[in-house]
Amino acid sequence: MAVLVIADHDGSAVRDTTHKTVTAALALSSDVDVLVLGKDAKGVADAAAKISGVRKVLLAEGDAVAHGLAEAVEATVLPLAGSYDAILAPATTDGKNFAPRLAAKLDVAPISDIVEVVSADTFIRPIYAGNALETIQSADAKKVITVRPTAFAAAAEGGSAPVESVAAGEAPKTAFVSEEMVKSDRPELGAAKIVVSGGRALGSAEEFHAVMDPLADKLGAAVGASRAAVDAGYAPNDYQVGQTGKVVAPALYIAIGISGAIQHLAGMKDSKVIVAINKDADAPIFQVADYGWVADYKTAVPELMAALG
Ligand code: FAD
Repeated sequence: MAVLVIADHDGSAVRDTTHKTVTAALALSSDVDVLVLGKDAKGVADAAAKISGVRKVLLAEGDAVAHGLAEAVEATVLPLAGSYDAILAPATTDGKNFAPRLAAKLDVAPISDIVEVVSADTFIRPIYAGNALETIQSADAKKVITVRPTAFAAAAEGGSAPVESVAAGEAPKTAFVSEEMVKSDRPELGAAKIVVSGGRALGSAEEFHAVMDPLADKLGAAVGASRAAVDAGYAPNDYQVGQTGKVVAPALYIAIGISGAIQHLAGMKDSKVIVAINKDADAPIFQVADYGWVADYKTAVPELMAALG
């Protein structure tokens, strides 16, 4: 069985979501190749070649594949698909965008967001906002799978796979127009070791940033938010943690003024240590918290800041 992993990268380095997807791929087969698509992406391919267990890196370079357009990914991957029994990508925004398209073009059912590989045709994935785990068995000869990165350990460095060029596909009907990147000195939410998240309790955008930003800076943390806080305009969209936001599993997650609705828990309950500050002792967040602090955040957060020194 041969497996192709489509790499997730930022243009200069492979993200650790790729290493985690390689781990899932290695649970399927020892013949794992990685495909890097991008413009001037040789450095990324060289980095991917160092991931332990990778047999070969395929590099598709060109303007057409510079921005992860699903149509260009499809046009690049379909000619290669005949050599592979499974195609894996991390369940990131990009992976969720191109994997269903690839599956449709290959006439197979996409297998999304797996958290465990049981065997070559059987996988486990969360459903109902993470409240149940579904075991699915696929009879498709070729499998297109997205992998929930937080569920897999990152494959180690230490490989020295060869890098081979392949043709980059064109996307004749779509064109990249522009992108707006959020610039931040803080770690990326999905990869941060510590996340501090604020909820509706913060009451305004000014209060949200006045409370959350200094705490995040003190801890070297990323800032997250509940959907209620995002919908109310207290925090930007890309801060949202949960079923319809980002799924995070940091070493430490601090939830401030967040009730703990199941849709929020779906995005953070696999965090290693969960701390909750909430003035309602019956808030559901305390059911998943390792440390619960029943208090008004207005007194608790300054106390926490003082204790951190
Ligand atoms: P609330 O539920 O209003 O909770 C505020 C909490 O703050 C309360 O527990 C209160 O006791 C506490 N509080 C108030 N004042 C203070 C104070 N001074 N000090 C300390 N604590 C205080 N939500 C997400 O977060 N992410 C998602 O991805 C998501 N996806 C969804 C998808 C669907 C289809 C649906 C239907 C809902 C989704 N939601 C999601 C919304 C979710 O159901 C909740 O409405 C939301 O998470 C609530 O946000 P919250 O906890 O900030 O607000």
